[in-house]
Amino acid sequence: MRQPWRVAVVGGGIAGLAAAVRLRDSAPAGTEITVYEQSGALGGKLRTGELAGQPVEFGAESFLMRDPAGAESAAVALARRLGLGEKIVHPTVGQAALVIDGGLRPIPGGTLVGVPGDLERVATVARPAADADIDGGRPLVGPDADVSVGALVRSRFGNEVVERLVDPMLGGVYAGRADDLSLVTTMPALARTARVEHTLVGAVRAAQAAAPRAPGAPVFGTLAGGLSTLVEAAVTASGATVRRDAAVRELTATETGWRLTVGPTRDPELVDVDAVVLAVPARPAARLLAGPAPSVAAGVGALDYASVALVTMALPQPRLPELSGFLVPSTEGLLIKAATFFTTKWGHLRRPDGLAVVRASVGRYGEEAHLQRPDADLAATVHRELSAVLGTPLPAPVDGHVQRWGGALPQYAPGHADRLAAARTALRAAHPTLVLAGAGYDGVGIPVCVRSGETAAEEIITALGGSAR
Ligand SMILES: Cc1cc2nc3c(=O)[nH]c(=O)nc-3n(C[C@H](O)[C@H](O)[C@H](O)COP(=O)(O)OP(=O)(O)OC[C@H]3O[C@@H](n4cnc5c(N)ncnc54)[C@H](O)[C@@H]3O)c2cc1C
Repeated sequence: MRQPWRVAVVGGGIAGLAAAVRLRDSAPAGTEITVYEQSGALGGKLRTGELAGQPVEFGAESFLMRDPAGAESAAVALARRLGLGEKIVHPTVGQAALVIDGGLRPIPGGTLVGVPGDLERVATVARPAADADIDGGRPLVGPDADVSVGALVRSRFGNEVVERLVDPMLGGVYAGRADDLSLVTTMPALARTARVEHTLVGAVRAAQAAAPRAPGAPVFGTLAGGLSTLVEAAVTASGATVRRDAAVRELTATETGWRLTVGPTRDPELVDVDAVVLAVPARPAARLLAGPAPSVAAGVGALDYASVALVTMALPQPRLPELSGFLVPSTEGLLIKAATFFTTKWGHLRRPDGLAVVRASVGRYGEEAHLQRPDADLAATVHRELSAVLGTPLPAPVDGHVQRWGGALPQYAPGHADRLAAARTALRAAHPTLVLAGAGYDGVGIPVCVRSGETAAEEIITALGGSAR
């Protein structure tokens, strides 16, 4: 293999940047790493903006502190690696609410993304079906099977638990519906126990016991300076050459690696590299794979995405409850899907002048038509709905921002994990120096995407002949 290695990272989101950092740390010294990002800014769905002089997340807001096995999450490990460990802060108010019949009720504790392990604890919000969760003498889910979360929970606990608890909680992460989302991909811990346990209560309890949480240990963290500081620090640590406004339009296999076609059709740039980390969402990934690996492209391209808009407003001294925010079941008929009271939830953002920053998320999978409305219309509707839910007219905002994220949140249909594994296996066999990473493949979330980027980097290093360090 020619030295130094030349590795292209396509996609400057957190997955691509985590791959670049891992390549710098583990590939031979002198490896030339170039990050190609089609937009003018790095970070992808991580974007810290400003409202009324206050840093605000216009994309992802926080990360899980622990991975499913209970160890430090990959996002926390990356922050530490980048010297940002001291900047990790946690919510000061963790309690959120659900909108039920137009008013707020605290989200009951002790559930797994809304799926209860103790039916009595959720009685304030939803009445579980009586006697449906019986032991039928066999595991809930077959050894290789996958089902939708909604189908499983409806069959065991009835419709209300799905509509009032599971749907809004899964919707808060995926903007999708429990009836469409894969158990294996969106709730892997529950999927594992559902293959052993005979009741859903038993499966939830077994999943909770398998990943006990230290009492008082924070679940979420963010960075005091905003998540864009993670992006900037990763770029610096990677020592990568960064190419902004540089869309990769085509990938062609060469005798020794890959040729990238970069930039506008009229004036393309051709770049030869030894290996590629493809850290872009499924649709652009499928387009790039169509030439070198058409069957893999078809598998990857089958993944659909939901679009959302985040409407953020700065309100002068509004009367807000001591809650981190609320989630809205789709049965409530509101445009708002979820709201976060930023300046209540995050103590480091509280302002002495009482200015509050509230962010509402709008848009559910299949209801994209609502997002066609102009910014001002979305903002006015959000303001009106917030006032109605809080039962008090909110003051007029002093500043506002609407961030649209088109095709942003993957909708994992049942069977996704198997389809992905088959696509990856086929890609690895045909092209070991082209590796997929990031959003849309292994799951949603900063830790998953960081881990995915790091794993891709390690696969590339192995494919190119192992690490020199
Ligand atoms: C509104 C919203 C809120 C979220 N909140 C949270 C949260 O609070 N916590 C959490 O853990 N996760 C959250 N997520 C999920 C999380 O942000 C994502 O899973 C993660 O950031 C995805 O990172 P990525 O690098 O894989 O992809 P992306 O961030 O999508 O980055 C991919 C990059 O590739 C670029 N690209 C695409 N095509 C090309 C091409 N052909 N050539 C070059 N570049 C290209 C894109 O411009 C983009 O910058 C949220 C997501 C959204 C949409």
